[in-house]
Amino acid sequence: MQYTKEIIGHEEQVVYLQNQVKNGTVPHAQLWSGPNHIGKNTLLANYIYWQICDASDHLSACLDCRNCLMAQSGTHPNITILDGAYGTIKIDAIKPVLSSLRQSSLTKGRRFVVILNAHQLTLGAANALLKALEEPNDSIHFVIVSDQPDMLLETIRSRCAVIEFYSVKSELMSRITHNTDILAIAQGRPGIARQLSKESVIEALRGRVTQWTAIMRSALFSERKNLSSAMKLDKLDRSKAIRELNVLEGVAHDVLLLQQGMRSNLRYPFVASELEEIAKQSSQKSSIQAVYLLNRIRKDLQSTGSVKLSFDHILLTLYRESL
Ligand SMILES: [Zn+2]
Repeated sequence: MQYTKEIIGHEEQVVYLQNQVKNGTVPHAQLWSGPNHIGKNTLLANYIYWQICDASDHLSACLDCRNCLMAQSGTHPNITILDGAYGTIKIDAIKPVLSSLRQSSLTKGRRFVVILNAHQLTLGAANALLKALEEPNDSIHFVIVSDQPDMLLETIRSRCAVIEFYSVKSELMSRITHNTDILAIAQGRPGIARQLSKESVIEALRGRVTQWTAIMRSALFSERKNLSSAMKLDKLDRSKAIRELNVLEGVAHDVLLLQQGMRSNLRYPFVASELEEIAKQSSQKSSIQAVYLLNRIRKDLQSTGSVKLSFDHILLTLYRESL
């Protein structure tokens, strides 16, 4: 867990959280919601550093005290992070964490349990968490993070102080990069803009988007299959498959925007003319279906779905109504 000197955007949330820490009003349970890659996890790391750092004025971290050093190496006994990014969070994962909270801590001070992508909690795990949330404790703080808060149990949501995060304004995004392609893809998400700022990454992504638009423009399954085998889609591991799906979701999103006559917010403006053609060939209905399908497949892939079957399904289905 790393401390970041400059947080881009989220000014109101930063002030609110700093006040919590200064005034000693840090809630027992919080839910941080908002799109992925906009800076929730980055700010969350800082928020925890403010509270554990020995030298802290509650607005910074020294990065030199024992607590800061342990947090940086991921060995701080009072910080536990569970992440559902690439699979469900099962009861076996959460139970030991919750039972360790009942024992006295190794070091004094506040204890933090962070659950990233919390919508990936299984029902059993969610119920175990709920029990812990129902037992307020001054020194234990849960921070539940999700870009899909609607998928959490209502009983969990209602026990949390909710903080919502939004995409970062474009004038602030330009602190990261001035590359218009990158800013268009990032859509107010600093995490994406930072990743893409490496030349090789943006070039690779351009290649993937171009390949996907070519696949979506070809009507015949055999053509599509040939193009996709060049991309070795069935050989991808789960996390890479989800990343590929994100690229494709961007394509589907852009096609839908074009069908609605909105050209200005395209994620991939560098393939605008190819996207226009897909938009013309297909109906808005099929684009909406595409967005839903990709969303559903992503959820499958996050749990147990087969990578090969998922991509076969996509290749067979997406934008093929014009046949
Ligand atoms: Zn420190």
